[in-house]
Amino acid sequence: MKKLNFEPVITAEKEATLRQEVREFLAGYGAFKASDVIDSWSVCDPEFSRAIAAKGWLGMTWPTEYGGGGKSYLERYVVIEELLAAGAPVGAHWVADRQSGPLLLRFGTEEQRQAFLPKVVKGECFFAIGMSEPNSGSDLASIKTKAEKVDGGWIVNGSKIWTSWAHACHQMITLVRTAPPSDNRHAGLSQFIVDLNAEGMTVRPIVTLAGEKHFNEIFFDNVFVPDNRVVGNLNEGWSQVMAELAFERSGPERFLSSYQLLEASIKEIRQAGLSKQSSKVIGEFVARLMVLRQMSLSVANQLQEGKLPINEASVVKDLGTSFEQELPEAMRLILDIEPRSSAEDGVERMLSDAILKAPSFSLRGGTREILRGIIARGLGLR
Ligand SMILES: Cc1cc2nc3c(=O)[nH]c(=O)nc-3n(C[C@H](O)[C@H](O)[C@H](O)COP(=O)(O)OP(=O)(O)OC[C@H]3O[C@@H](n4cnc5c(N)ncnc54)[C@H](O)[C@@H]3O)c2cc1C
Repeated sequence: MKKLNFEPVITAEKEATLRQEVREFLAGYGAFKASDVIDSWSVCDPEFSRAIAAKGWLGMTWPTEYGGGGKSYLERYVVIEELLAAGAPVGAHWVADRQSGPLLLRFGTEEQRQAFLPKVVKGECFFAIGMSEPNSGSDLASIKTKAEKVDGGWIVNGSKIWTSWAHACHQMITLVRTAPPSDNRHAGLSQFIVDLNAEGMTVRPIVTLAGEKHFNEIFFDNVFVPDNRVVGNLNEGWSQVMAELAFERSGPERFLSSYQLLEASIKEIRQAGLSKQSSKVIGEFVARLMVLRQMSLSVANQLQEGKLPINEASVVKDLGTSFEQELPEAMRLILDIEPRSSAEDGVERMLSDAILKAPSFSLRGGTREILRGIIARGLGLR
């Protein structure tokens, strides 16, 4: 059986100084609204994203020739960990910084990098992910949105669904079928950069369980995409998507979405007087959090070394989302507080948001069952 690689990582002085800098920057903002801090990487605030950009914290690991910071993955880890732990509204730039930019660096043309990366780094261009379709979620290879070759480009028809923040983004990396299905169902797929304001595009928000307009349905009606917006190799989109998902699955957002709830609950419990049961529950969650953090750091370090730790990233996401889903119920049982979605502030509101949002944690970015299938295959068990 193959083994998972989670070499321990110890961050250095350089990262500690950076962490302090991020904390000082965040202190200037004070506490964020309780209604925004749960799953804050799904809270879109372009102005905040531009403030982060001005600090040099977007595209941190990208080469300086594209406006990037030329920093290490560990330095980026420190910045995003602090932002997420504070519940900062980082949703607007999240996808572009986490995966679309790295995808273009890996597979994009020089013209595409020059056209998009400097704008992403300045917080002026946000990307959405156009993978899922109404009948193609886990079974992504079955997508039906297709592109037909015309002079100078492609005509796209079809639809996408659950597209986070497409209504606030500028571009979308879109998976389309560019060749008819064959025996190899992963062949014939390609990734396009699609302008979300192009003629023929309709973006329609879907209201979530928590009452938010977070994700969308998207319809393509004869949308023209020029040849220079094809990413990487035509018909080889599947392997590119798999590489992209390694960036999507391993970060601290997979276990810090409800961190503010944990912190606020600890304060409440301290004030009410710590019982043996509550200390046990809190102790268990903090211990799990520390392990997840080390695992995620280890993945960041492997990305720094140019590796593609797809298996390890899947393990972090699977364990991380289980942690996040169990946390609200565990806190509800030890807090003497009712969750209240109408509350403007405080732990009642956080608890209510965390309960409403938790089911989605193990769906987005690949469901629990799909991840476990990937891990089993990676370990040679299936
Ligand atoms: C908050 C949120 C944001 C999202 N944002 C985006 C986005 O920006 N862009 C985008 O493209 N998509 C996005 N998605 C969609 C997400 O990727 C899909 O929901 C996910 O891939 C699952 O697909 P599905 O919803 O069609 O469920 P299905 O694939 O229909 O799965 C339903 C259930 O069946 C199980 N199942 C399916 N196949 C198997 C199998 N082979 N073996 C065992 N069990 C199986 C699944 O695990 C799941 O429990 C988002 C989803 C959420 C919840």
